[in-house]
Amino acid sequence: MRQSQLLVPTIKENPADAEVASHRLMLRAGLIRQVASGLYTWLPTGLRVIRQVEAIIREELNRSGAQEVLMPVVQPAELWHETGRWTKMGPELLRFQDRHDRDFCLGPTHEEIITDLFRREVHSYRQMPCNFYQIQTKFRDEIRPRFGVMRAREFTMKDAYSFDLDEASFADTYREMYDCYSRILTRMALDFRAVDADTGNIGGANSHEFHVLAESGEDVIAYATGGDYAANLEKAEAALPEPRPKPGQQLEKVATPGVSSIAEVCDFLGVEPAQTVKTLMVRGEENLVALVVRGDHELNELKAARLPGVVDPLAFAGDDEVLAAMGSRPGSIGPIGCSVPCFVDREAAALADFVCGANEDNFHLTGANWERDATLDAGLVVDIRNVLEGDKAPNGQGTLKFLRGIEVGHIFQLGTVYSEPLQATVLDGQGNSVTPIMGCYGMGVTRLVAAIIEQNHDEAGIVWPEPVAPYLVHIVALNYEKSEAVRAAADDLYETCVKAGIAALLDDRDERPGVKFAEADLLGIPHRIVVGERGLKQGNVEYRYRREPDNQALTPEAALQRVAGD
Ligand code: ATP
Ligand code: MG
Repeated sequence: MRQSQLLVPTIKENPADAEVASHRLMLRAGLIRQVASGLYTWLPTGLRVIRQVEAIIREELNRSGAQEVLMPVVQPAELWHETGRWTKMGPELLRFQDRHDRDFCLGPTHEEIITDLFRREVHSYRQMPCNFYQIQTKFRDEIRPRFGVMRAREFTMKDAYSFDLDEASFADTYREMYDCYSRILTRMALDFRAVDADTGNIGGANSHEFHVLAESGEDVIAYATGGDYAANLEKAEAALPEPRPKPGQQLEKVATPGVSSIAEVCDFLGVEPAQTVKTLMVRGEENLVALVVRGDHELNELKAARLPGVVDPLAFAGDDEVLAAMGSRPGSIGPIGCSVPCFVDREAAALADFVCGANEDNFHLTGANWERDATLDAGLVVDIRNVLEGDKAPNGQGTLKFLRGIEVGHIFQLGTVYSEPLQATVLDGQGNSVTPIMGCYGMGVTRLVAAIIEQNHDEAGIVWPEPVAPYLVHIVALNYEKSEAVRAAADDLYETCVKAGIAALLDDRDERPGVKFAEADLLGIPHRIVVGERGLKQGNVEYRYRREPDNQALTPEAALQRVAGD
């Protein structure tokens, strides 16, 4: 490609609002342009990166035995009614009607469509196991699109769906997909981590997320300092607490005028937050439900939303509702004498002699003890908090530490949550009707492009890993317009690359050398060959590998050998 013909020059754009490095660099290097919130146009150079990423994904999916299909973006409501997701999904699902007033949605994911295909086409165990994938546009009306293509509304995903006859066969398929994802990310030279994860809207029992490690990542990963335990903070657990000590203090009601937050309570009474509990009120299916966590802990809303009888997604009660249910304002409520169902985090349940609200405005209790002062059924002791760094790891090996990551892939063990409601069945070898066990496997193609840049850039710009780079070599011709020698040598290098199948970008523009170098650094193409009159007089060009600081004077042939990896 000749850079003078590239649709968009680099650098000109300087958006002040880009929150993360990858987004800023993608705009400046001319990879993308925003059309509206969460909607992007991919420019020629950006699209080349997408194609590279897709090629690696395709090769590895094909290698693992999956078959490529292509399903429509627009999906009929009927199928979503069959699984119940038409009503269960929130406004993230963009619903609309066609000219006949029939309901449709833009596909945020394709479980319904693929399971419908399967039930129509596959009837015998002989056709199993099978795994279908596609690389397709998805639409999710994200509440907060941000970080550019990292969290867009329209984006490209590779999604795959597997069908197995039994658990043993499914375990092999899942393991193969786990390995396949690891191979894909390894080929892209990414530093990544696979972690246990929450299953969210997709449903099913278990899932693993693949995270590209990056400071700017939206997700927190908790991992054990020993062994291989790693989980998304949304799901991570700590080791079980030590058994609860025996009560040592009497229960006392103390006046705490105007004191409500944990910090204020601790200040006022001279206790540590870890010796207090806080009580949060959420909506239940019938009444309000109380959730109790230790004063220094944070409620994990995803874990809490899974509790029986609690409304999912979690909805906090308003002050008036709390007052009506508990007889006091939120700052003075507590688990003792609590009249609504009360779930207690297991760390809070392991406390003795703790401080809590007295369910009377401006009063707290000290020396409170479970069992003695408030009953505690085993079923009500649960894990509903976020783990903290330094907590004991659940695998018994060391403590938990945190890393930040960008979720680029998510694989799910679905069981029969889709095959059952959609009545997809096959006949096994004995002629019995069997409901297949499904898995689904998502990977964000466009998010991957941003994640790759997050992990591969410096102050000057992008530093593409070779397997995904838009071009392998950047031929920067200085004074191309005016110097015949430069033009001849640069054209010759470029033609040689084209013939050899090496993706080359020739900077033939009439720009100052300083601008050309800065933009070459910004674009981050792995190999750079600068062709200038001065060097040519000695028979040389200047070669630089983007990851390394130094230029080398080499003959054009020697420079090309570097590009080819010889
Ligand atoms: P997140 O928690 O980031 O919203 P998710 O759990 O909703 O992700 P999945 O439904 O598992 O994501 O989708 C599979 C993959 O699609 C994700 O791992 C991610 O790489 C990508 N993806 C999901 N939402 C978006 C988005 N809004 N923009 C770009 N890529 C996305
Ligand atoms: Mg999401």
